[in-house]
Amino acid sequence: MQIKDNLITLKSQLPEHVILVAVSKTKPVAIIQEAYDAGQRVFGENKIQEMVEKQAQLPEDIAWHMIGHVQRNKVKYMAPFVKMIHGVESLKLLKEIDKQAKKYDRVIDCLLQIKIASEASKFGMTTEEATSILLSEEVSGLKNIKIVGVMGMATFTSDTHQIKSEFENLKNCFDTLKPLVSDNSFEIISMGMSADYELAIASGSTMVRIGSSIFGARNYSK
Ligand SMILES: *Cc1c(COP(=O)(O)O)cnc(C)c1O
Repeated sequence: MQIKDNLITLKSQLPEHVILVAVSKTKPVAIIQEAYDAGQRVFGENKIQEMVEKQAQLPEDIAWHMIGHVQRNKVKYMAPFVKMIHGVESLKLLKEIDKQAKKYDRVIDCLLQIKIASEASKFGMTTEEATSILLSEEVSGLKNIKIVGVMGMATFTSDTHQIKSEFENLKNCFDTLKPLVSDNSFEIISMGMSADYELAIASGSTMVRIGSSIFGARNYSK
């Protein structure tokens, strides 16, 4: 019941236009099923292998989002079902996703990961790099991917001013990129986790990725 209650509380705090990705990494399928039974349909995982195993055991209508760093040689395992890939940070990766999606006659939604954090360990591209990807003729020829927005992760810090300014940078980046896409498909700003989703929403987030506030703390010992 705890998970259902957590979901209800969380949903009541999210504006209607904000999509909730329930981050279920490290959690067993029974727990994910519990969230599914409470109505949740969008789940996020950060390891391809783990997502593939869970997908096979859970209902077909779950929208699986890959939110972690993606190795190109593993895209093929998730290509049959993955709905959205948040961590796209190169043209090379985009081309591999397109190639694998084509085999299943699918279109996979992609977010360009933008580096907004000051930590060297965080992945992502600059607004300039994202601009050149969106304007590239090569990319417009990729029919089995759709670039639907941007994703970013703020620095791991308790300094809310810094987090807020990083989120605002991502929103500005989105505003710069959006006019480069001719249809209305570029509409997602994926930012905000359990600790900072309120700040993220105040800064323009349209998609939050929340794990521990729904499922409790993760056990990383395994
Ligand atoms: C784990 C993870 C989250 C969720 O983190 P919580 O603090 O548990 O909400 C969000 N985004 C990414 C990329 C993650 O890896």
